Amino acid sequence: MTYEHIIDKNRCKGCGLCVAACPKNVLEISGEVNLKGYFPAYQARPEDCIFCAICATVCPDVAITINEIAGEAAGRGKRRG
Ligand code: SF4
Ligand code: SF4
Repeated sequence: MTYEHIIDKNRCKGCGLCVAACPKNVLEISGEVNLKGYFPAYQARPEDCIFCAICATVCPDVAITINEIAGEAAGRGKRRG
């Protein structure tokens, strides 16, 4: 099954909770400001992401979503995030 990890950088306030919570050290804070003037989190090492959804759970601004990508495994009905 395949997932995609999306950070809505313009919802992010750069609090760093997701960066600290990620067990795989995937996330970092960007050096570029978003539309609100915050430095948002981004996936610095996306290849290490295991789509555990911890980051999405801890984010107080609901800026992170993990979607199941439709493919040959579609139809099993299990969703995360
Ligand atoms: S889904 Fe899990 S592994 Fe991937 S960035 Fe979020 S906390 Fe890290
Ligand atoms: S927890 Fe949410 S608001 Fe905080 S840095 Fe991560 S994505 Fe941004």
